Amino acid sequence: MMEQIAIQTATKQYPLCLGEGMLELLPQWLEELGFPHGTKIMVVTDETLKALYLSQLVEPLSRRYDVYTHVIPSGEAAKSFEHYYACQTAALTYGLDRHSLIIAFGGGVVGDLAGFVAATFMRGIPYIQMPTTLLAHDSAVGGKVAINHPLGKNMIGAFYQPEAVVYDVQLLQSLPERELRSGFAEVVKHALIGDPGFYNWLKMNIHSLADVKGEKLQHCIRKGIEVKARIVSEDERETGVRAHLNFGHTLAHALESELGYGVMTHGDAVALGMLFAIFVSERTYRLSFADHHFAKWFESYGFPVVPPKQLDPERLLQKMKGDKKAKSGKIRMVLLREIGHVCVEEIDDKQALSLLNEFWQS
Ligand code: NAD
Ligand code: MG
Repeated sequence: MMEQIAIQTATKQYPLCLGEGMLELLPQWLEELGFPHGTKIMVVTDETLKALYLSQLVEPLSRRYDVYTHVIPSGEAAKSFEHYYACQTAALTYGLDRHSLIIAFGGGVVGDLAGFVAATFMRGIPYIQMPTTLLAHDSAVGGKVAINHPLGKNMIGAFYQPEAVVYDVQLLQSLPERELRSGFAEVVKHALIGDPGFYNWLKMNIHSLADVKGEKLQHCIRKGIEVKARIVSEDERETGVRAHLNFGHTLAHALESELGYGVMTHGDAVALGMLFAIFVSERTYRLSFADHHFAKWFESYGFPVVPPKQLDPERLLQKMKGDKKAKSGKIRMVLLREIGHVCVEEIDDKQALSLLNEFWQS
């Protein structure tokens, strides 16, 4: 089944098409979006996707368009200035101009890099996101594009919306379990922060990661995107409610940084971060989510539910204070008031440390 969701931001509206067999349908789509036959297209993808699907994308596309490909290594390291520069060089060498199109075919790494190339090549040319991971349901919507700097993740970037997002769920069949679980954490996050109905659906329908496939997978992507798109449409440039998307991320970023990037997946860190945020919420608002059995539920998906004991809460606290979202050294955490309703709260150092210590000992 093919579904279309309209993504609305303050600056732009564009379609997101979700379903199966999208690679075959793409040329037709591009025509409807107003790209005439013969348009130059540069497909940016990574080594893994090249081996799996690139020919299935390029073959139908080449019948109508002038298609070039640029392949980057798989993994986070490709979000670098060097690969950004190489991408720009490729675009210039292939003779792309302002009427050309960039297609980001891959996970969040390809999407962030190719999107930033599109945002800056000749001061901005059109691009399309074709996400191939579950995590990319998050990264492909919202228009944030970036590369990393050795001094910090996503430090150089832009807000730049695509012409469309084309999501073929069939391509996710080849995702390793670790990557599927990582993306699923953001699905759970979207349910918790913005959709009680979807939260109930998850509890009833997704008992383990093995259930995250076919129509259920498509439903997860659709619902997750709806929450993200709603929040982004209210706050494109991250001045207000967009901060809610940071639920679970304050501790997650500290964990990823302390463990060393890539040791724990982003999603696993977010899952643990959400458990901590829930724990802090219970203390802060004097309420109990015991009936929801969050830890048990998370465990059934394979998320870590016990904090890595070797890490020092004191050091984590310092990292949490250094977060991009922190204000004047105070920790700002997104806390859960009830399912579907979160608030940003400032927590002072002493209290944060004692909560971390308690969580670490639990
Ligand atoms: P990724 O792009 O590195 O993909 C993960 C791994 O899966 C890679 O090795 C990739 O080659 C492989 N892969 C991709 N699709 C596959 C498929 N269909 N079958 C088999 N293997 C496949 O990473 P990701 O998890 O998709 O995204 C993480 C990135 O997204 C981070 O850099 C993060 O900063 C960024 N991000 C951006 C935003 C945003 O708003 N822009 C939001 C969240 C995350
Ligand atoms: Mg995230």
